[in-house]
Amino acid sequence: MKTFDKPHKRYNPLTDEWVLVSPHRTKRPWQGKTEEVEETRRPAHDPSCYLCAGNERMGGQHNPMYESTFVFQNDFAALLEGDGNTESTKGLLRTREETGLCKVICFSPDHSLTMPEMTIAGLTEVVKVWKREFEALERVSYIKNVQIFENKGSIMGCSNPHPHGQIWAQSSVPNEIAKKTETQRAYFTKYQRSLLGDYLHQELEDGSRIICRNEHFVCLIPFWAVWPYETMIIPTRHFQAVTDMTTEEEVAFAEILSKITIRYDNLFKCSFPYSAGMQQRPTDDKPHEGWHFHYSFYPPLLRSATVKKFMVGYEMFANPQRDITAEQAAETLRLLSEKHYKNG
Ligand SMILES: [Zn+2]
Repeated sequence: MKTFDKPHKRYNPLTDEWVLVSPHRTKRPWQGKTEEVEETRRPAHDPSCYLCAGNERMGGQHNPMYESTFVFQNDFAALLEGDGNTESTKGLLRTREETGLCKVICFSPDHSLTMPEMTIAGLTEVVKVWKREFEALERVSYIKNVQIFENKGSIMGCSNPHPHGQIWAQSSVPNEIAKKTETQRAYFTKYQRSLLGDYLHQELEDGSRIICRNEHFVCLIPFWAVWPYETMIIPTRHFQAVTDMTTEEEVAFAEILSKITIRYDNLFKCSFPYSAGMQQRPTDDKPHEGWHFHYSFYPPLLRSATVKKFMVGYEMFANPQRDITAEQAAETLRLLSEKHYKNG
């Protein structure tokens, strides 16, 4: 395929949306806002951290002396449990009751760690706990979607540096998942194949956006990526949810999570901030054969540890835009070491 060095748009077949790419613009000087770099050595246990083992949380409960992962229901949840489905419409004003529950998953008792600094064994425990939680929440009849995600770094609004992620399980299918459900369903109905499976095949033939891979997963910068160093992990086998992973795939997934997050930290020699999320079929009991599991990282940094990409102006009012191309970003990440800079 012809690569462009002129401004162009790229299509995202998963969301049916476009992104504007302006490769010539990377040379413009930066005089905008810069962020503070967080580089403080943290202790393995922080007495003031509400996620550390044995400590008291804001709701008054005490965490157990956990040794691997630990899951609890968020004391300040955005959703409340229940089976309510009240709707109301008044002219153009519509509301619908939303119920559900929010959980917090501590990835490790060690307060000083982040995902790229954890062992493969430790990360495999995280994958196992994601599986267990998805399985349990799916069994709750009113839960239609289970969103697993992680916000890392204060720049992403993460209030606590302790390694942890979240799960929001809710009574309806949220926007992004609804879009991806529809596009993948339409593709599967037409071709009897997975959209992301075909996409992955094309990417492996091309190679220019691949960052790393192992026997079961590929990490790449999607052709239509919006964030400068956005990446996606796609399994080579077509499956719909984290619960479909074999024991071998759990370890392979942990390994590729480690590889990409180490590269991220090595990129600007900092604890690299991001929002990362698991994308998988809804839990609404409908057939979702077209759904192809994937895991996405949306990091906000643009050109250094202190320069953030802002989604403002044109991006708010028209559509997302990026400067460095997906291919340039992939090459940069591909060439980085898989050994964490702190251990180098
Ligand atoms: Zn802690």
